[in-house]
Amino acid sequence: MAGNKSSPTAILGGGAWGLSTALALLEDGYTNVTVFDRASEIPSPYSGGFDLNKIVRAEYEDPFYTKLALEAIQRWKTPFYGPYFHQTGYVVANSSAAPQKAIDHLEHALASVQNHPTFAPGITPLRSHQDFKDIFWQFTGQMTGFKGYYNKLAGYVHSSNAMQGVHQYLEANGVKFILGDLDGKVTKLLYSGDGPSRHCTGLQTADGVTHGAQVTISCLGAYQASLIPEVGYFTVAKSWSVAHVELTEKECDYLRGIPVLNMRDMGFFFEPDPATRLFKLCPLGAGYINTDPKTGISLPSLHSLPPPQDYIPAEDERKLRRLLQETLPWMANRPFVDQKMCWFSDTRDSEYCIDFVPNTNQSLIVLTGDSGHGFKMMPIVGQWCLSLLKDGNQKLSRWQWRDNGTPKQDWGDEVSWRIGTTKEIGEVIAEQNRRMQSKL
Ligand SMILES: Cc1cc2nc3c(=O)[nH]c(=O)nc-3n(C[C@H](O)[C@H](O)[C@H](O)COP(=O)(O)OP(=O)(O)OC[C@H]3O[C@@H](n4cnc5c(N)ncnc54)[C@H](O)[C@@H]3O)c2cc1C
Repeated sequence: MAGNKSSPTAILGGGAWGLSTALALLEDGYTNVTVFDRASEIPSPYSGGFDLNKIVRAEYEDPFYTKLALEAIQRWKTPFYGPYFHQTGYVVANSSAAPQKAIDHLEHALASVQNHPTFAPGITPLRSHQDFKDIFWQFTGQMTGFKGYYNKLAGYVHSSNAMQGVHQYLEANGVKFILGDLDGKVTKLLYSGDGPSRHCTGLQTADGVTHGAQVTISCLGAYQASLIPEVGYFTVAKSWSVAHVELTEKECDYLRGIPVLNMRDMGFFFEPDPATRLFKLCPLGAGYINTDPKTGISLPSLHSLPPPQDYIPAEDERKLRRLLQETLPWMANRPFVDQKMCWFSDTRDSEYCIDFVPNTNQSLIVLTGDSGHGFKMMPIVGQWCLSLLKDGNQKLSRWQWRDNGTPKQDWGDEVSWRIGTTKEIGEVIAEQNRRMQSKL
């Protein structure tokens, strides 16, 4: 498979992982790579990475992911990726109202970095109000009972700009892009043969055109199960809310350079984006799914396609306003703009899946289950796909295809870094509408 570098290779989805894969193939000498995306331009508004920023941190309870994240951070610091990476530092903390699960998680995260040779010199425990003021001198809020730590070796990437930059490079270097809701939207995978001789031979797009491929690599993020329904048995399309406050130029300058603050029991925010003057906030929680009662599979909800939607659940808005009240109270009652539900592909255990689809004779690959922590890996994801192509099978059992058989109902609430319970987005919206009606 790896020898046929001039045969057509199709990458479905030009999001973070699809672009990374196209780049790795290009660098490895593949000369006939086409990326299909339903969006008319990259970055796609359907991508989980269509955003101002994503946290880049390497503290994981599992050293396997710490190692990968450290490798990715090295790549973010190269001239190619560097323009998108901002090593502002990262504060992880809990307020005095945090549930035990959040406190436990923070302790594990701190332990994983405090004794790690790479991180240790850059870690500062934050135990008092003054400790927080020393780092966030701009904060005038009470920061009630805030406790946590500061990690110098982390920060964020401008995710939309990173995808745009990689796309431009790929296009300029011969990777073909077929974009748009007709030409680029993949509606069907094509197969020949049955049983053990089945092959994926390519795909069909919404305009009815068929495209042959020797290898098809599907990187559809939250939409993966729309083409390969079996993926919906071990992954789930899940969403988190995103909101922004529009700042003046002065306010923006005032907050420039603050570390990313991740309050485990409320949410997180980043330094404002100087180009748009938007200050992005994201509440933390177990997320919202959209399960089809007939199939048991969750795909992104039509209520939230594509942004701007200007909607987030009321419970998330409350969390974010409390976060602002505790830190930057002058912002706490400002209107939220560009609110949206942002979709990703979750697994029950936060493990990715990078593998051949069974019974396709190595002709169809899925890169899925980013579990909401996949953007930081963008510089190295493509290497994982290359290794799979070269090895002919997935050697890491944690990333193998999971043959679970039926959709499951427990979607990752047990994962240590998620606080709360996963909810159906349709039920949340219906409840909110009922409340509004009763007020009229
Ligand atoms: C609110 C939020 C916050 C997050 N924060 C972080 C963070 O701080 N750090 C971090 O590392 N990660 C974070 N993530 C996760 C990160 O966004 C994902 O891991 C990453 O985007 C996964 O990349 P992907 O390529 O698998 O999917 P995506 O980037 O979602 O790309 C999927 C692509 O498939 C395309 N597509 C869909 N259907 C079709 C079709 N039928 N035909 C053609 N194209 C199609 C879409 O247009 C899109 O471009 C966050 C996610 C969310 C939602």
